[in-house]
Amino acid sequence: MRSTDNVRYVKGVGEKRAELFRQLGIESVGALLRHYPRSYIDRSRPLKLREAPFDRPCCIKAKVFSEVREIYVRHKMVLYKFFANDGEENVEITLFNQKWAAEKLEFGKEFLFYGQVNRTLFSCEMSSPEIYDSTEQTISPVYPQTAGLNSKAISKAIQNALSQFVPDDPLPETLRQKYSLISLKEALFGIHFPKTFRDVEAARKRLVFEELFFLQTGILFQKSSRSNYTPVKISGQFLDEFKTRLPFTLTEAQSNAILQCLNDMQSGRPMSRLVQGDVGSGKTAVAVALSYCAAKENWQSVIMAPTEVLATQHFETFRNLLKNSGINVALLTGSVTKAKKAKIKEAVLNGEYDIVIGTHAVLQDDVCFKRLGLIVTDEQHRFGVEQRTSLTAKGNEPHMLVMSATPIPRTMSLIFYGDLDISIIDSLPRGRQPIATYLIDSSIRQRSYNYIRNHLDQGRQGYIVCPMVEENETADLASAVKYYEDIKENDFKNYTVGLLHGKMKPKEKDAVMKAFASGEIQLLVSTTVIEVGIDVPNAVIMLIENAERFGLSQLHQLRGRIGRGQYASTCILLSDRGGNDTKQRLKFMCSTTDGFKVADKDLELRGPGDFLGKRQHGLPELKIADLSEDMELFRAAGNAAKELYRTDPTLKSPENQCLRTEISTLFKTAKTYGYN
Ligand code: ADP
Ligand code: MG
Repeated sequence: MRSTDNVRYVKGVGEKRAELFRQLGIESVGALLRHYPRSYIDRSRPLKLREAPFDRPCCIKAKVFSEVREIYVRHKMVLYKFFANDGEENVEITLFNQKWAAEKLEFGKEFLFYGQVNRTLFSCEMSSPEIYDSTEQTISPVYPQTAGLNSKAISKAIQNALSQFVPDDPLPETLRQKYSLISLKEALFGIHFPKTFRDVEAARKRLVFEELFFLQTGILFQKSSRSNYTPVKISGQFLDEFKTRLPFTLTEAQSNAILQCLNDMQSGRPMSRLVQGDVGSGKTAVAVALSYCAAKENWQSVIMAPTEVLATQHFETFRNLLKNSGINVALLTGSVTKAKKAKIKEAVLNGEYDIVIGTHAVLQDDVCFKRLGLIVTDEQHRFGVEQRTSLTAKGNEPHMLVMSATPIPRTMSLIFYGDLDISIIDSLPRGRQPIATYLIDSSIRQRSYNYIRNHLDQGRQGYIVCPMVEENETADLASAVKYYEDIKENDFKNYTVGLLHGKMKPKEKDAVMKAFASGEIQLLVSTTVIEVGIDVPNAVIMLIENAERFGLSQLHQLRGRIGRGQYASTCILLSDRGGNDTKQRLKFMCSTTDGFKVADKDLELRGPGDFLGKRQHGLPELKIADLSEDMELFRAAGNAAKELYRTDPTLKSPENQCLRTEISTLFKTAKTYGYN
């Protein structure tokens, strides 16, 4: 038998059960063995009745100490009542209809009773406990299960599988010794059939290590599979010249990021770098500086934005900063007419445009370059590794810069962007006023409207954000539109109010954004389309309706639209719904504007799985490791991965063959990884 064999070949499984296993995502024997328990029921150390906790079930070992009385309550309902004694005191146990259980309860025989012990002043009782023979004094696993396939059945199947076959250990002996890890066989028995919790611990350590080791090895080999030669060399000699064009001085953090990039770009090896900076930290200036340097040295750049609104905004920013520089900038989005698009494409191919800015979708298809030297993708976390790879094909090993405004915890960036080098812009431009955030409910809505009107009267601008979540798009859209119409006619009838939502035509969106940027629109009612990247420094106030419907990172992104200029800004979270947890979450937003803190909290609340969207990153799922707890193992496994790469960079050594197979099946999209 082999790991890849279908699970139906396991003794006692067969077609029917195999179907149930499939529902749990288990198709192969290997997957079955890697279906780890979610938790354990501990019957290994039964308690005395007096030790029983009052708020949760436990296991008691006691002898049947009375006759079992049958009580017929009504038709088809029988109670069985008896006393059991743990050597110290009696407990009265009641079973409902469990004839089969009642029948084995011989007087004087000892059993394990697993359930909740309820105590009053005068009595001690258990109701419907699970009953086990005293020989079953073990730890039993609780598996993620499905109807028709309970933990016991899963456990049995695993036991049978392990009696038929034990997979080869992908971790070489030397590695296991170095990191004090037990063998795969021991670990599988330890995790599925532990005798003590020490067994579980040792097994878990080994399996978590293995998982994080595979992951980091895969990433490392992927990184090393990148070409280490590029003809694109950009020295950056025009950087100082560029700086004189800026209406501000770059922050030290911006300068450092630019220098790190230029360092890569003149190295002769293609750059793959992530610039991470909190919202408003000035990432755009970094992109302009680099593409300016590239253009001056005769290389084309392409800037990719996730939305049309954002692409257009970048286009304006670039054009302003590059006025009269001899550098030509093109905008290529879905709303550009076909004829015009064709013209632009031709000019791009001829090298007449130095910088092309556009949405991902448009730039992804048939745009070809004469001398592409630099690719910048803004807000990249929305795109996966694969898309990134397909882009580089548009040039001869161009440099690649990814800009992300989602500050993510360090560990997460190692995983999600493990194939990239990282620069962090860790400070905001000087003179930024802090954003104050408040949580209110609609009882003081009028006051908040007053507050907004005051700011508009002083010449500032503001946003009102209405949630628009996917499941409920139509209804949400209707309510945003209605909201807009209502406040335009009533509370804000003396002001110019605009509306922006994702279902508008690109041209309409563009017109609204332009009007808002120029100050013509004073108050913008919007759905989350403004979440990404919009930059209007005169906007200083934001009211977020139904704030409870947003995640923390999303709120942080939204809030990042204000506090971008010289004025103090205010963000008002309005929420009438949600329990304590929601309140806590929103209060947390009021307590910090630090994107990294927000990200940590978000990760803690949502778990790594949901953090960046499931599987969007194209990496294998973590089945047993928990990144909030297993940092030490994460680091150890990372070191082991580096060590492996140093000693056997092609994974050719015999002792690593099993490892090689495991990892390449795990990273199924093998073509993007370093194995061939
Ligand atoms: P983000 O990092 O969120 O993309 P942007 O690049 O949109 O931030 O920059 C936010 C605002 O800060 C812009 O209005 C930009 O002109 C301004 N800005 C950027 N760098 C500086 C700086 N060094 N000093 C002052 N203002 C700056
Ligand atoms: Mg930005």
